[in-house]
Amino acid sequence: MRVLVTGGAGYIGSVVVEKLLEGDHEVVAYDNLVKGHRAAVSSGATFVEADLTDKERLAATLREHRIEAVIHMAADSLVGESVGDPAKYYRNNVVAGLALLDTMRECEVGRIVFSSTAAVYGEPEKQPIEEADALQPTNPYGESKLAFEKALKWYDHAYHLRYASLRYFNAAGATDAHGESHDPETHLIPLVLQAAVGQREFVEIYGTDYPTRDGTCVRDYIHVSDLAQAHILALGALDRGSRIYNLGCGGDGYTVREVIDVARKVTGREIPVRESARRAGDPAVLVAGSARIKRELGWSPARQDLGEIIGSAWTWMQKHQNGYER
Ligand code: UDP
Repeated sequence: MRVLVTGGAGYIGSVVVEKLLEGDHEVVAYDNLVKGHRAAVSSGATFVEADLTDKERLAATLREHRIEAVIHMAADSLVGESVGDPAKYYRNNVVAGLALLDTMRECEVGRIVFSSTAAVYGEPEKQPIEEADALQPTNPYGESKLAFEKALKWYDHAYHLRYASLRYFNAAGATDAHGESHDPETHLIPLVLQAAVGQREFVEIYGTDYPTRDGTCVRDYIHVSDLAQAHILALGALDRGSRIYNLGCGGDGYTVREVIDVARKVTGREIPVRESARRAGDPAVLVAGSARIKRELGWSPARQDLGEIIGSAWTWMQKHQNGYER
């Protein structure tokens, strides 16, 4: 299939591009490089540096490459930042997203796979979380993703847009070629590994008074390759109708302290920590029930062991001490 990946130069986007190329799809990575890295785009893909709100450029790209489906991953995705600057999240995740949908309609591109998030559930009443559970985001990031999911539902109803919303839990790990590199870094695993190599003095633990087994937040870490694989499966299923899936490994998840302990074992390094206050907008526990995508598409995560996930990130980081070349 001929696929346009928005955010194709980002962490997860770069791996989705890599996996699409491995599956012999034709790929255009579309990214404004505000956060993405040109060097993260596999050489087999066409790269277009542009903004989603640049409708002329977007329409020209869709037409020139005769795009059949879009994987929409371009977004802002930081819970804490969204609480302080909701306007940015509504602008980049909702307004720019709607600009994409309208340009797709204009160019008669009728299929989209959307990067959604566990943050649409807010503070869930039960674990693991299932797709039919209540949607009550506790931060503007989750609200903005939910607003776009709802737009997809109504665009499908009125304009027959086929969509898959993939609600990611915590993406982690790396492939041989692509890993996580943000500036500034805010995600737990890369921060822990930076502390392991001495690039930072310590890791902060945000909140130790959550109602969890050790007082720190529980998250469900999923390897970025498994996440990418789910996009390929979802893409292939769109003709059979729109769908919504959770993507995580399930089980008991891991607390922040458990992540740090596993990283200590994997790296063999000391990782100093400092306990601090809760981060705004963080729910205590987010663990996925992914039975639906397993049942309907036969997806199953190949790398469920956190040591293996962190190990892949560690291998990548040692090869890219300063992230991607600029
Ligand atoms: N976290 C932490 N210290 C950090 C970064 C994150 O304790 O320096 C915690 C955060 O509160 C959350 C978990 O680690 O419970 C995962 O956070 P991350 O930002 O990696 O992903 P998110 O869950 O926000 O998508």
